Amino acid sequence: MHPLLTTAHEQYRHTIREFAEAEIKAIAGILDDAGTFSPELTRKMGILGLFGITIPEQYGGLNKDTLSYIIAVEELARIDSSQAATVASHNSLGIGPIYEFGTEKQKSELLPQLCTGDKLWAFGLTEETAGSDVRGTKTEARLENGSWVINGSKIFITNSSSELSYGATLQAVTGMKNGEKELSAILVPRSTPGYRSERTGNKMMWRAADTGKLFFENCRVPEENLLGTRGMGAKIMLKTLDSGRLSIAAMGLGLARGAFEMSLDYSRRREQFGQPIARFQSIAFKLADMDMKIELARNILYKACVMKDRGELFAREAAMAKLYCSEIAREVADEAVQIYGSYGLFKDNTIERFYRDQRILQIGEGTSEILRIVISRYLGLKHLL
Ligand SMILES: Cc1cc2nc3c(=O)[nH]c(=O)nc-3n(C[C@H](O)[C@H](O)[C@H](O)COP(=O)(O)OP(=O)(O)OC[C@H]3O[C@@H](n4cnc5c(N)ncnc54)[C@H](O)[C@@H]3O)c2cc1C
Repeated sequence: MHPLLTTAHEQYRHTIREFAEAEIKAIAGILDDAGTFSPELTRKMGILGLFGITIPEQYGGLNKDTLSYIIAVEELARIDSSQAATVASHNSLGIGPIYEFGTEKQKSELLPQLCTGDKLWAFGLTEETAGSDVRGTKTEARLENGSWVINGSKIFITNSSSELSYGATLQAVTGMKNGEKELSAILVPRSTPGYRSERTGNKMMWRAADTGKLFFENCRVPEENLLGTRGMGAKIMLKTLDSGRLSIAAMGLGLARGAFEMSLDYSRRREQFGQPIARFQSIAFKLADMDMKIELARNILYKACVMKDRGELFAREAAMAKLYCSEIAREVADEAVQIYGSYGLFKDNTIERFYRDQRILQIGEGTSEILRIVISRYLGLKHLL
């Protein structure tokens, strides 16, 4: 057992692993092939409490610590990144900022509905002009007679376009201050007239997770739907991304573990030159390197989670965990395919899906390049961005 974990953490891991093996494993490839998001499977994950893991019980959650949440995402990604993405996005990006920055009214109205798995909440930051540059937002919200009137659009938004999608937190420009955009975060239910979503298909990865575009045309919500205070949008979004990075890191760790376990097993079964390929030193050393990278990834990720739970600053460690876990996921999945040889290149082999699914992890919620900038800043190299 990892020194930072308790028996309760390991029991929780066991529960999620059993669920993922029993309910997800057999259908993950089918959903991926069809590019289908499954509301049924999402609801089953909801019954297990996976949509409000760290939220206090009074709001309908499980009240678990960050480590438990990260273990859950890791175990899901060990089997299927699409389901892990649905859970991670909802917990970290969807309900996370509502719990952290919401008023009591916002929390008590929204969270109990959003902890069930019946309703998903999205995080709308990215736009065509706002990717890594989060200040590139063009979506506008104008205050008019006690309502925000919103116009604009968002792209690549997880959990935004399925039948379970219930709304989104948007970053919008609410004015100009000293020549700079004033950015605010606003809660916008999907039922608001002028709110439209469109599914984005043709993805290389996370094919069974829901990704969509959002459009807002004179969309009116009450002034009280502001999250936090006016002008606090970028702070809320960036703080949310610090936590979100832990869950992307967990997806990298879980995916790497799944790929490693599959390739270890295969290397023991596949015989060439009269012996299992695991007996060739070059294959054994690949497996040793994979195992070591996974161990190191686990250490930085679990450390960052403990720091978060202790109330310490954890943005540097979250950036390192996301960067390292996502990069070793790529290396491990790549070596796993190498161990499988040509068999790993075909869709009837699960490792092919893992090889595709790892690719977003170095891009979403801070690209590897941006994370290196974040980490450099902690070295006092402030000239970067
Ligand atoms: C499946 C999926 C789900 C997603 N879910 C969400 C979601 O739920 N909510 C949401 O808001 N967004 C979401 N995103 C968007 C994602 O977070 C962004 O795509 C990501 O932040 C990168 O932005 P970009 O694609 O515009 O790349 P760009 O910012 O255009 O970057 C392109 C390249 O330039 C590099 N680059 C950019 N600026 C710099 C710089 N200053 N220095 C060095 N290099 C730089 C980048 O590192 C990258 O290599 C999702 C994306 C996908 C694919």
